Amino acid sequence: MGDASAATYDHDLEVLVIGAGFSGIYQLYHYRKLGYSVKIFEAENDLGGVCLSRNRTTYPGIRVDMPVPMYEFSLEELWKDWWWTERYPGQKELFAYFAYVNEKLDVKKDVCFGTRVVEAYFNTDENRWIVKAENAMVSIIRRTGLEEKTIDFKGKRVGVIGTGASGVQISQTLGGMAEEHAPEKLIVFQRTPNLALPMRQTKLDRETQEKDKVHYPTLYRRRRQTTAGLHYDRFPKNFFDASPEERLLLLEHLWQTGGFSFLFANFQDVLTNRDANNEVYAFWRQKVWERLKNPDLREKLAPTVPPHPLGAKRSSLEQNYYDVFNNANVQLVDTLSCPIEEITPQGVKTADGVEYELDLIVLATGYRWAIHGVDGTTIKDKWKEGVYTYLGLTCAGFPNLFFVFGPHGPTAVCSGPTCAETEGEWIISCIKSLRENNMTRIEATREAEINWRQQVMDEAAARLFSTAKSWYMGANIPGKAVEILMYTGGAAKYTRICNEVAEKGYEGFIISKV
Ligand SMILES: Cc1cc2nc3c(=O)[nH]c(=O)nc-3n(C[C@H](O)[C@H](O)[C@H](O)COP(=O)(O)OP(=O)(O)OC[C@H]3O[C@@H](n4cnc5c(N)ncnc54)[C@H](O)[C@@H]3O)c2cc1C
Repeated sequence: MGDASAATYDHDLEVLVIGAGFSGIYQLYHYRKLGYSVKIFEAENDLGGVCLSRNRTTYPGIRVDMPVPMYEFSLEELWKDWWWTERYPGQKELFAYFAYVNEKLDVKKDVCFGTRVVEAYFNTDENRWIVKAENAMVSIIRRTGLEEKTIDFKGKRVGVIGTGASGVQISQTLGGMAEEHAPEKLIVFQRTPNLALPMRQTKLDRETQEKDKVHYPTLYRRRRQTTAGLHYDRFPKNFFDASPEERLLLLEHLWQTGGFSFLFANFQDVLTNRDANNEVYAFWRQKVWERLKNPDLREKLAPTVPPHPLGAKRSSLEQNYYDVFNNANVQLVDTLSCPIEEITPQGVKTADGVEYELDLIVLATGYRWAIHGVDGTTIKDKWKEGVYTYLGLTCAGFPNLFFVFGPHGPTAVCSGPTCAETEGEWIISCIKSLRENNMTRIEATREAEINWRQQVMDEAAARLFSTAKSWYMGANIPGKAVEILMYTGGAAKYTRICNEVAEKGYEGFIISKV
């Protein structure tokens, strides 16, 4: 089955999907069924999106934070014959999953790989996008650039800069290696402690999954109705309305359950009431302290005073992250009190003049991405002073253009596959409705996006997110406006609002034809 080639598709398409991750594949699947001419342009060389692109994101210990069966498509034709081996799948297994998706859905025949969209203009005479793509070059420099298979850590002095999701996964993997493979020294450079939660990873066998699959249809329906796009939701009681015994019972239960349940199945006001959040933080801190022998490390990794409310910044899921700091070869350097000044030929130099000699440095500092609107403005320019979208799905001045899992949608506070499906379905039925009504152009009004931006801001103001300096707020990119980038009112409410807009004849949009 040969892959499509970009050169072959320099003719008209009814729908062009950019990106072959969960969102793009889901779009392709449905447009094919509806009989549209559709292709995907994908910059990388395989399916699976950002957490699978072999050339961009790979590091020791890489895995997802959603338990089976949440990080997969809810299509029965896919889940019924697919078996995972771990509750929180790692990258290798996800590669296998997307290969299986391809086997079942024959996705690749409609994907132009190695094809990066670099520019797009809207032709107002024909109501069509003219898209320019080029062959993507495979980069040999990886941001978090080490592969377990190709790099031998044994006896090396390794520095990990950053304690976000990748930093935690890399540190616990390298720090927990058996002596015969372990680095001589692992130095973790931490600016902000990650308030990491227990993953409770387990192996999965086929028999258990066979039994569980009876419940999958219910779970997948449920994940569309919850705050975080998962199969559980907040406990319907405020923290201080519960007795101390009840509080402890729920916190302990969630702690043992593991995963994001500690945030998203907790008392309903934990992300809105600072006092409740402080209590939950104190519980979390105590649990972490019990695992750390050194009092100084306790204070650095789980400070007495919360660095920010729990959940206001992305917590990672960890397996043995805190335990590895008890190992003699693992050291933590606090770069908040003493920032990194320079990467030197020998290693890393901090502001106090200390130079840490390192053989390998892992930059676990995160990931960063010209579409011209009708007046020639690019999205980047449009968002210079702040993000404006309508429903987190499109924006004024950019007709017939939709995005999934983007800014002003529930995105980072919702499961990726859930967003891919719920937002994706909204877009698909919108495009279908245009065709049924012989319309060729849909564009959000400026007024609608101003109102949506306000709703996004209002939802965030009722929560604790803005109290943390994080990528949720765009605070990780210098020069970018610091403001909430997600709709934080919950995925279920978000979907309801989007559906109401559609039911009201796509309120807030101007629909027309040539
Ligand atoms: C290590 C890691 C772990 C994660 N774990 C979780 C998790 O546990 N739960 C969760 O919900 N989310 C997780 N995520 C977030 C994850 O990004 C989303 O869940 C999911 O990938 C979103 O799918 P998507 O298809 O919308 O976007 P993406 O996966 O980002 O796919 C977008 C695709 O578009 C392509 N592309 C981008 N620009 C262009 C262009 N100009 N031209 C052509 N192609 C382009 C990219 O190459 C990519 O393949 C994780 C991310 C990482 C990196």
